[in-house]
Amino acid sequence: MIFAPSQTTELWDQLAEKALKKIAPTKEEALAVLSASGTETLSIIHAAYKVRSHFHGNKVRIHVLQNAKSGACPEDCGFCSQSSKYTTPAATYPMMEIEALVEGARKAKAAGAWKYCMVTATRGPSNRDLDVICEATRIIKKEVGVKVCTSLGILTEEKAKRLAEAGVDRFNHNLETSEERYAQIVSTHKYSDRVQTARYAKEAGMEVCSGGIVGMGEKNEDVVQLAFALREIGATSVPVNFLDPRPGTPFAHLPKVEPYYALRVLSLFRFIHPDVDVRAAGGREVTFRALQPLVLYVANSIFTNGYLTTSGQGQDADHQMIQDMGLVPEIAGGEFNA
Ligand code: SF4
Repeated sequence: MIFAPSQTTELWDQLAEKALKKIAPTKEEALAVLSASGTETLSIIHAAYKVRSHFHGNKVRIHVLQNAKSGACPEDCGFCSQSSKYTTPAATYPMMEIEALVEGARKAKAAGAWKYCMVTATRGPSNRDLDVICEATRIIKKEVGVKVCTSLGILTEEKAKRLAEAGVDRFNHNLETSEERYAQIVSTHKYSDRVQTARYAKEAGMEVCSGGIVGMGEKNEDVVQLAFALREIGATSVPVNFLDPRPGTPFAHLPKVEPYYALRVLSLFRFIHPDVDVRAAGGREVTFRALQPLVLYVANSIFTNGYLTTSGQGQDADHQMIQDMGLVPEIAGGEFNA
């Protein structure tokens, strides 16, 4: 189906109306969002904002990442500077101590975080890794009062249960890209391993955080397929990352995603995931540049204070941006007062 320019504003409004009823767009409508012209982008953002505003009000959920175990990962994800298969400048260190993880949660809370995410560069967590993460989670939930997410690679049913019992609210495991394209991104584990891990996390009682990365040479069809797959697995948090090409990785040569296209990608995720947390995740600053504030009219969540191996613009600039856009950070248990 081809949409003539005169029909498009009406189409974006129709997508917003459907999203308000939690009805997903058709595949053709989803592709139309991504292939729209630059001049259509503001109309698309306007439609996506209606949905964002209806389900998420003026709140922004800020997440803070803690790289709890960095580098030397045996997996070969082509975008990742922490893989041992590539020579990169990323730091390598073993699992952090429990006290340091708890201290990280305190700092995250002071930075206005709604959620603190402990992440390890591993295929999956060892029993010792789980001991540390579970104990840190118990202390954080009791003493710090911030929600906890963990991202530890592939889970078994038993490991998922241990995390849920310790109080982990959400488990992150990204699908990364479409099922069709997945083998060109990772060869050491399968797409089905990722879907299964999301299923174990959900069955154990944790919320599923799952998203992907845009800008790895995929087609619009792959982005649409990914967005629908995430709806199908029931993700309640969808981080949309934009490739920040890392030196030494196989994707180091790829260009950054064009900012207007990235805004249409975020809008598409908002139409397909109207009531869940859509996060403008890794690559936000380098992708959107001067257009960054517009991200908040579509996404209701961001990371602050950087990513796993790269830095961001920092918490002061993030809070200023949120305030300037007339929005308010949400924290577990109330609003953040800077
Ligand atoms: S499993 Fe995670 S840490 Fe390991 S290479 Fe893939 S993305 Fe990087």
